[in-house]
Amino acid sequence: MSDGKSFLVDVSRCTGCRGCQVACKQWNQLPGTKTYQTGSYQNPPDFNEFTYKLVRFSEGRRENGKPYWNFFSDMCRHCVTPPCQAGMVENEIVQDEETGAIIFTKDTFKSDYETSRSACPFDVPRQHPDTKVMSKCTMCIDRVKDGKLPACVLSCPTNAIEFGDRDEILAKVEERVQTLKKRFPKVQALNADSVRVIFIVTDEPDKYHEFAEG
Ligand code: SF4
Ligand code: SF4
Ligand code: SF4
Repeated sequence: MSDGKSFLVDVSRCTGCRGCQVACKQWNQLPGTKTYQTGSYQNPPDFNEFTYKLVRFSEGRRENGKPYWNFFSDMCRHCVTPPCQAGMVENEIVQDEETGAIIFTKDTFKSDYETSRSACPFDVPRQHPDTKVMSKCTMCIDRVKDGKLPACVLSCPTNAIEFGDRDEILAKVEERVQTLKKRFPKVQALNADSVRVIFIVTDEPDKYHEFAEG
């Protein structure tokens, strides 16, 4: 396999508009989720079998009294060596040779969901309550194989999500971190060596999401 593909998600560019979340639903023909107000602008409250992309909203108060409002456009990280495959029978979760995308097949109902979900460092896999099939982001493999960008990337108005060949994305991550360091001393790239969806955060990872860092 070549080095495959990767994403860069730069949270400093994210406005929390949720265009990516809607585009993911639209392209993958996923139904809306009936939801409710939980005291946060995040909606729905978590991933589910029909939500592969979720913009997490984190509202808090810094030590010096200033509030923060962080956005984290969450999705499967397409791990280079995916821990979610633990305990799965062959061909239930597969890795695409060309891109490195980790794909959950329709056969995922055959293995133990809790084993797979708990093995994922980012708490991504979800299961349909009736069919027991597991689901998550597909890397828009159908679009990518057709030479198109993933739907979430194409929809982002601020270029907060980028996609491309892994070596080019890794170079861009390094460059972006160096640039952002001038304004944000705490900036860091998360798990760049082990995942294909590399988040750049400008504050501690847990100020975005408890599973931000694997
Ligand atoms: Fe599997 Fe979780 Fe990695 Fe996605 S993020 S490939 S679900 S272990
Ligand atoms: Fe959804 Fe495609 Fe983006 Fe994955 S790559 S989060 S499936 S739009
Ligand atoms: Fe953030 Fe871009 Fe998603 Fe809007 S579309 S929430 S700016 S990542």
